[in-house]
Amino acid sequence: MDLSALISGIKLGDRLALAKAITLIESSKQKDRMAAMQLITELYDHRKNAIRLGITGIPGVGKSTFIEKLGKHITSLGLRVAVLAVDPSSSRSSGSILGDKTRMEELSRDPHAFIRPSPSGGTLGGIAARTRETMLLCEAAGFDVIIIETVGVGQSETEIINITDCFLMLAMPGTGDELQGIKRGIMESADVIVINKADGDLLDQARKAKKQIEMALHLFPSAESGWQPKVLLASALHNEGISECWKAVNARQKTIEESGWLQSLRKQQQERAFQKMAERSIYEYVFRNLNSQNVVDKLEEGLKQGWLNEFEATLQLLREIN
Ligand code: GDP
Repeated sequence: MDLSALISGIKLGDRLALAKAITLIESSKQKDRMAAMQLITELYDHRKNAIRLGITGIPGVGKSTFIEKLGKHITSLGLRVAVLAVDPSSSRSSGSILGDKTRMEELSRDPHAFIRPSPSGGTLGGIAARTRETMLLCEAAGFDVIIIETVGVGQSETEIINITDCFLMLAMPGTGDELQGIKRGIMESADVIVINKADGDLLDQARKAKKQIEMALHLFPSAESGWQPKVLLASALHNEGISECWKAVNARQKTIEESGWLQSLRKQQQERAFQKMAERSIYEYVFRNLNSQNVVDKLEEGLKQGWLNEFEATLQLLREIN
């Protein structure tokens, strides 16, 4: 692959070059990893200072409908938006919801938008690392807003919080979802909570849910960032409340920029990313060297046949490394 062509393409904001570079990032081949690192390094200082927005919610809450409307609103303001969808379930089921081509049809035709599902398979931590790299490339390609979408199924939210500036949680009335969110501690981390489907028969329930959530939020300690979480009503289906949601995201960004929180948050995220990459590199290096001597295979065989237990095997491994 011609790296310099990719680099100049991305600098020009070419979506095809961006897509090719993302494929490189997703590869787990050692040679490709090195090339991907080099690519990101070359583009690192060409990045735009984008808003990094994480959006989560249970399946069916209206994520794709909402993101499509929000995305269209953002492009209507003359900004470019990239949507990266993280779907931890897609490694298990090939017919995952994010693989559905009809999602965000209108936004995908918008020349100022770029939509890409994040790599499936591998560990969740690995997905987040690749998503972060993809996000940096999108910034180098001049996108103003990067939306990272994740299905609300637990650990993926934490991963997303570790790579974004603002965490928006979508909830819907009548599912007890708002309380589940509190229980799982997700709502505690949310900067903006949007109760979607605030329309028709669900409007009253949505209003009640808003009050409940606002009351619950008062019980949480105030955030270090200086931002007070907002609860908003929206109807993605009828395109209502979308600009208010965007205003809230911008208000949060302004607040944390002015308080200096954003800068320290991104520093922390950078350090975390380095730690993860360093761990991974060291692990792979050691594993490759051990593997060439069939050490790990032998230990695994010992475990399987029962002449080693897990502690003896680990002890032998430590002896090999030392
Ligand atoms: P996702 O699984 O979270 O991506 O949810 P979808 O965007 O696919 O929406 C799930 C269903 O909810 C679809 O049938 C949508 O038409 C519907 N939906 C989405 N937003 C709204 C809304 O604001 N109001 C109503 N009434 N239905 C909605």
